[in-house]
Amino acid sequence: MNDILACPSCGLDKTEAIVHRGSYILRCAACGEAIVATSFMAISDLEHQFSAFADPGPGKRPRPETLIARGPLRQISPAISDAAGEGMLILLIPEGAP
Ligand SMILES: [Zn+2]
Repeated sequence: MNDILACPSCGLDKTEAIVHRGSYILRCAACGEAIVATSFMAISDLEHQFSAFADPGPGKRPRPETLIARGPLRQISPAISDAAGEGMLILLIPEGAP
């Protein structure tokens, strides 16, 4: 849940949070390089509010109609797990982010 990691490929420190199958991945918003991956289970208990979208691709804004779920991650994680388990890439955006 932080943006301080720099991309090893291009050096940019802007990351996006992606869920794919059982993994939670921080991805560079510029070149799409995966920077850090952990288990989605490890973060799925957070109370923080997120919006989950079908991934539009690195650095792109998701369209409103691609919204999968919105709310505390603890509540929406089952919906995210279901979609991600089918192979869909899910973009997680913290609520309140610009
Ligand atoms: Zn990069």
